[in-house]
Parts: sequence; C-alpha cells; structure tokens
Amino acid sequence: MALRAEPTESQTTAPTSTSDEPLIFCENLVKIYKVADLEAVALQGLDLQIQKGELMAIIGNSGSGKSTLLNILGGLDRPSAGRVLVGGRDLLKMTEGQLVKYKREVVGFVWQQTARNMLPYLTAIENVELPMVISGNYNAKQRAWARELLEVVGLSGRMKHKLSEMSGGEQQRVAIAIGLANRPPLLLADEPTGSVDTKTAATIFDMFRHIRDQYGTTIVIVTHDPKVMSKVDRVVAIRDGKTATETIRRVAIDMADFAAGSIVLGETHDEFVVLDGAGRLQIPREYLDKLSIKKKVRLELDDDQIIIRAIPGEEEDGKRETTSRRWGLR
Ligand code: ADP
Ligand code: MG
Repeated sequence: MALRAEPTESQTTAPTSTSDEPLIFCENLVKIYKVADLEAVALQGLDLQIQKGELMAIIGNSGSGKSTLLNILGGLDRPSAGRVLVGGRDLLKMTEGQLVKYKREVVGFVWQQTARNMLPYLTAIENVELPMVISGNYNAKQRAWARELLEVVGLSGRMKHKLSEMSGGEQQRVAIAIGLANRPPLLLADEPTGSVDTKTAATIFDMFRHIRDQYGTTIVIVTHDPKVMSKVDRVVAIRDGKTATETIRRVAIDMADFAAGSIVLGETHDEFVVLDGAGRLQIPREYLDKLSIKKKVRLELDDDQIIIRAIPGEEEDGKRETTSRRWGLR
C-alpha cells in the first residue's frame, strides 16, 4: 500500500501564507461610516500590499482615511467591502473570537495619544508587563523581555519611573515598548510623532528601523511628517481614501565617483503613481489645475509612453492652451 501524506489538522487550519506573499493584502477596500442620515466614505477602493519585514509609512492629509485603514488592519474596525488579508487571514471573515485573538497575538498598536494604552500611576516596566499579564503568560522570561524592550527604546535607566514623571517623548517610547510586549509580527503606529518635537521624532523613527532590523517586525507608520521619507523603505500616499502615489527609497552609487575610485552612497527617491485593480490612476490636483482639465482628457499611446492631453474646449475663460503633460510609464 502506498503511503500518502495527509495534511494534519494544524496545516489545514493554519493561515495560508508563504514567504513571497505579501503580509498585508488590501484590494478594493471600502469603508463607509454612517452618521445619522449621512454617509462618509473613508476608504473608496483602496489597494495596498505590504511585504513581511517592511518598514513603511502612509502619508496623507487629515481626513484622507489613514486612521480608518490602520484600524481595519488592527482588527479594531471592519471594512464595508473589499478584501483585506493579513498573513493569509481574511479579516472580513473572522469571527469576534478570532478577532480578539488576532488583536492580542498579531498586531501591536502605538497611538499619538500615549494615554490611550498606558496607566500614568504605574512605572514604565509595569506598563510594559501589563499586556503580558492580561494575556495570561507572564513569567520570568516575559519579565526579561519587558526589560529588553525598554532597553531597545533607550529607557534602561528609567524603568522604575512612573509614567507621570516622564516627558512626552519618553512616554511615547514606553508606548512603543508596550506595542511590542506580546511580540506581534505587525506593529501599527498612528501619528506616533504627532505630539513630540522634531529631534524626538527623528529618534523615534530610527527606533522603528532598529526594531524592524532586530526582530523582523513589519511596521506601518501613519504620519503627515514628510521627514519620514528618509527613514523608511517606502512611503505610500493616500488621497480621498485611495492609494495615490508610492515612493521607494533607494541607495544609489554615484558612478562618476565610482569610476574615480571612490564610492559615494546617495539616496534617491522614486515616485510612482499607483494604478488600482481596474487600471485607474489619480492625476494630482495641481496637474489638472495647471492644464485646466475638468472632466475629460485625450489619451495617446506613443511607443513606450502614454500621453495625457488636455482637450482645448474643456478649458474655462477661453484659455486655449494645447500644452500636454507626458507621463513616462515604466
Ligand atoms: P485620517 O486619519 O487620514 O485623518 P480618518 O481615517 O480618521 O482620516 O477619516 C477619514 C474620513 O472618515 C473622514 O472624513 C472622517 O470624518 C470619517 N470618519 C472617520 N471615523 C469616523 C467615524 N467613526 N464616524 C464617522 N465618520 C468617520
Ligand atoms: Mg488619523
């Protein structure tokens, strides 16, 4: 009789994810809030993929849907439509019980308002130990982990201080340690530098990178701080609840210097416009205004580029410009 490998119970119920699949997969994600008779569309068909171990930032104006997206990824809110998978788990199909487990084991949160997940009358170390105590697996090993986390965020000398005796920047660092207490593979930070000064903000961004490098944590930071660009691998901009552009940081070697015998590492940023699943892209408002484009454009395929042209009759005030904007698509 031939031997046949049967999938075990754990294999069939484990999340279906392989290493080359993205950790986070959002497709056509929609979130509508209903307040009285009014509907607010916070996300309108957002597409986003985040790789395991990525350190990335989401930027966008106030009201563009950043917190909504983060709350959905963190299992705090459910989308109205679309798909969202984290590590192969379909967040739309999870039961309440599965969501509770997901929030405890898979995601850590850091908020702008540190008060949201901390108790001011407890010490820093007690605050970090609290999630471990709550999840019922507190022991000597966990205590050592709490100490390690406070060292990682640069607070080894302040562990026994009450939070109420700490500065805003120090409290935010404790908040990061708390977010990591249950060793989540995914850390979500909503405006983590929103209420600290520029220097502390830079330190906090560096800390996120260090954490990613050391523990392999996938980190998603929501911010409107443009300085984040030089601190993360990738920045995705969202506009009106949809992913609009994407900027990837690259370290480039200056070939002229290389030829001259020295290597100079410089940073370049490649900015892309993101197409959604249906092939739509969002043209920046300032481009539309510059060419007075209102409702229609002319599209031309020209070998390796697509040209978007304003239609002269479209312009108001009789401004008959025939300027065009060339978009080189890679
Ligand atoms: P951001 O974090 O980018 O500032 P949000 O995700 O908080 O944006 O909000 C996106 C949109 O959804 C806004 O128009 C906001 O008013 C609306 N919104 C967010 N949360 C709620 C809610 N709980 N109830 C009703 N509307 C909401
Ligand atoms: Mg927000």
